[in-house]
Amino acid sequence: VVIELINTGSELMLGRVLNTHQQWLCRELADLGHLVTRQVAVADQGLPIQAAVRESLSRADLIITTGGLGPTSDDITRDLIAELLGCRLIEDQNVVGHIARFFAALKRPMPERTRVEAQVPEGAAVFLNAHGTAPGLAIELSPNPFRDDARSSWLVMLPGPPRELRPMFTDSIKPWLQRLFKPDAPLFCRTLRSTGLGESIVQGKLEAPMQRFVNQGLEIGYCARPGQVDVRLAARNPGAAELVADAEKTVREALGRRVFGVENEELEDLIIRWMSEQKQTLAVAESCTGGLLANRLTNVPGASAVLLAGLVVYSNEAKRKFLGVREETLAEHGAVSAAVALEMAAGARERTGATYALSLTGIAGPGGGTLQKPVGTVFIGLAGPEGVASVHHVNPWDRLTFKQVSSQQALDLLRMRIEK
Ligand code: ATP
Repeated sequence: VVIELINTGSELMLGRVLNTHQQWLCRELADLGHLVTRQVAVADQGLPIQAAVRESLSRADLIITTGGLGPTSDDITRDLIAELLGCRLIEDQNVVGHIARFFAALKRPMPERTRVEAQVPEGAAVFLNAHGTAPGLAIELSPNPFRDDARSSWLVMLPGPPRELRPMFTDSIKPWLQRLFKPDAPLFCRTLRSTGLGESIVQGKLEAPMQRFVNQGLEIGYCARPGQVDVRLAARNPGAAELVADAEKTVREALGRRVFGVENEELEDLIIRWMSEQKQTLAVAESCTGGLLANRLTNVPGASAVLLAGLVVYSNEAKRKFLGVREETLAEHGAVSAAVALEMAAGARERTGATYALSLTGIAGPGGGTLQKPVGTVFIGLAGPEGVASVHHVNPWDRLTFKQVSSQQALDLLRMRIEK
């Protein structure tokens, strides 16, 4: 299947918004066994959009556009495509009803302008938007007049906001595509997520043992993220399922407990799941991560069964007042020290009554580093029924990456303690 992706939006061309649809949709399609052959981004203007769509229609079996389906004056994708294809736009009563219900649920009047989103090209398949108003649309051109070979093509239009596009793709478009376009040989893939080892170390550990699988047609991809390396295994030959399963076993043997999860699992997902199964509770006391740890944990549905409290204790005074960190400990070891991390964790556990408490104290930089404690130094404390422990890392990255990596290390410390 030849697939082309067209992302529309002047904000993309101005660099105001990162084109995450490009990455996200390409990855989703790759996991279905389809490679996107070409991707372009264009401004919200008639000529560039029509030119891009016309060009893709001349050779692709499936064209996906994103953005420009909303009610504002720059949302012109639907109209332009209907014009290009010579399709009439008609009001879809199902969509009108959906938009009315959407605003009723928000207890807001329905703006008259949103009604334009119910204008759909005649004959198009309509995918209602569970998180917004503009529906997704799919039009079959059979035969496709823009193609010399007179074969047919599908044109799919998706809304711009990621929180609308992603669930629409996952829940409606993906099953529809799976029925419509079966890959020649089904693709088997598995992503294993690891933490605590850099990308080149992971690759170094896997190179030799994975060679025999590569010889049999396995593809290995590495994706490095802050504090995490994903290893993607894929194959589509006969016997691909067994090949991927054997390769997974070998990766797990080579990386041991550094592998924490599969596919899109995050450390916080595992921790909330395991702790709620065990009816355990958690408190976090953060200095240098400024609440990121609590933020990550509260992104997981069901977090309230586990997380009792998250304290951001940035100053020494706050560490004393809210956690009982001793004046002498602060004076003797400094706020960024194993001793303070331990007292923070013990204090958070004691004061909240949680089964476990995590703490972080560190130097995010760019200032504040010393020879003994360079920028990037972080101490992580863990208090639990078995006692207290701390680890020490140096993450000399920019502030955001420092926070992300440090929170990952804290979650990993807890994972290693509670994993069965
Ligand atoms: P709306 O009803 O919000 O107008 P729409 O379907 O018309 O929806 P756009 O107006 O094109 O979509 O985009 C809405 C918002 O979605 C943009 O402001 C942008 O923040 C985000 N967005 C659009 N395209 C992308 C993209 N390719 N990658 C990431 N975010 C995007």
